[in-house]
Amino acid sequence: MSLRDVGFFLRGRLNRAVSRALNRRAPAHTETPTPLNDVLSGPRTPIALSRLLTARDNAAREAAVASWLGARGVPFTRHRFATFEGRGDNYVVDLGAGDRTLILIAHHDAVPGSPGANDNAASVAILLALLERLAAAPPSRLRVRLLFPACEELGYLGARAYVRDASLDRVAGVLSLELCGMGDTLAIWDAGAQTTFLSTVRGALENVGRRADETYHVVGKIPVFGSDHRAFAAAGIPAYGLTMVPASEADALRAFVFSPMKSALRAVKRRPVPFDTYHTTRDALGTLDAAALDAVVEALEAMVAEAAGAASS
Ligand SMILES: [Zn+2]
Repeated sequence: MSLRDVGFFLRGRLNRAVSRALNRRAPAHTETPTPLNDVLSGPRTPIALSRLLTARDNAAREAAVASWLGARGVPFTRHRFATFEGRGDNYVVDLGAGDRTLILIAHHDAVPGSPGANDNAASVAILLALLERLAAAPPSRLRVRLLFPACEELGYLGARAYVRDASLDRVAGVLSLELCGMGDTLAIWDAGAQTTFLSTVRGALENVGRRADETYHVVGKIPVFGSDHRAFAAAGIPAYGLTMVPASEADALRAFVFSPMKSALRAVKRRPVPFDTYHTTRDALGTLDAAALDAVVEALEAMVAEAAGAASS
């Protein structure tokens, strides 16, 4: 175990302890999971697909992803890992062809006790909807790898296990979707340094009519929060978080995420959207906004197109 792994491990334990403390006095959530068959035979919009994981426990969430892929006849690889930190199944779906790979990630686990709708059932649903679209018209000059890791909430354990075992040369970039189910403004975060991949991401967002510092924001390394992309960043790959936020909360969010100590104190009062439900019993399906999810699918499609163009030039 490397020193970096020890850091990720301790961070995961700390996150869990903080979540437990925050939820200790909250009543158990009353969200009921949608019967799996209703989701499998229902509409395949991102908002409808958010029901696939919401309000299930982690074992059922993990199984539900495999059920959906199986029911849709999607070829996928199961990457199983087991360490002293935990165990789980990561799922990998490859689309398109080419010698460069864009990796898009949405973890399927949730913090125990939370319905986990925005964190992260919505993001899994977004990638499943994107999968349908890309399968219908696969990019010919870019490989798109959709990765659904387990155990993100344990210090990115699933993603770390994947990075350890997978061959990761020719990866153009990595985006990890977190909290993508509400708001109108995209945040690309942990994006401190200028890279070719960051130019690709910016170009794609501008192609769908988004404007820098208005309808999308690029922010540097965030101190307390993190996501699976950090396991890839640790391997030297350009890797960012992708989150949807309400424009009206942009200033409050900036203050919240960049002042972790103040934020911790403020946690007992009002946290800005989407952090007011993050890791809590209130992270319910009803808080999700269909338009937000659709906008993320649109942005990702643009990124695939832009990255495919960059790969060919
Ligand atoms: Zn998450």
